[in-house]
Amino acid sequence: MKKMEQLYEGKAKKVFKTDDENLYIVDYKDDATAFNGLKKGQIAGKGVVNNKMSNFLMQIMEKNGIPTHFVEEISDRETVVKRVEIVPLEVIIRNIAAGSFSKRFGVEEGKKLNCTTLEYCLKNDDLGDQIIAIGAATKEDLDTIADLTFKVNDVLKAYFESVNIELVDFKIEFGKTPDGQIILADEISPDTCRLWDATTHEKLDKDRFRRDMGNVEEAYAEVFKRLGL
Ligand code: UDP
Repeated sequence: MKKMEQLYEGKAKKVFKTDDENLYIVDYKDDATAFNGLKKGQIAGKGVVNNKMSNFLMQIMEKNGIPTHFVEEISDRETVVKRVEIVPLEVIIRNIAAGSFSKRFGVEEGKKLNCTTLEYCLKNDDLGDQIIAIGAATKEDLDTIADLTFKVNDVLKAYFESVNIELVDFKIEFGKTPDGQIILADEISPDTCRLWDATTHEKLDKDRFRRDMGNVEEAYAEVFKRLGL
């Protein structure tokens, strides 16, 4: 596998072409941003943690029948993934109220929701992440995405519970392969999930960076350790 030219550089990852037209390489950075890029910083070692953690969790998804873009981890920060066209939606699941949901509805952070909620936001931050799902994918794609997302929640929540972590909420993204299959893409990491210690409710995710709480690296390392990585 040959790493070819860079295709794209995002906030936390770079994506490269390879000599196989159906495969890309993602390269995870330590850069962290929040509030639509207004807050910028670095979390030392985050790229390694997120790469390995995301790959580990994607493989658990695969074992549970959820198709993903994961192909092969080739270094601490680099992974070969399937080429997809990203569906321009951030799909958000919430089990417990936090963040923008708490603000929007005036619900205290930490309140267990009566039912799991699913939201779609447009990926483009310039549009203020307004909830406009219609038109961003076909009706059939959205049905597949919703089914897969609830399944991801069931598997992920149970897995994190087994290591005494509460899965508060998370954001995932899907992609479409050249033959039209919808598969889980992007990443699953403390950048994209709210993870709380189930006993102390201590935050073990990017909120420590967003809210200047300190011990950011330690929190990422703790989740990494609990997953046995
Ligand atoms: N999230 C994300 N990327 C974003 C916005 C949110 O990965 O650009 C994740 C976030 O980490 C949390 C979930 O999506 O796990 C819900 O976030 P929320 O809507 O509460 O927004 P926030 O308060 O993080 O701005």
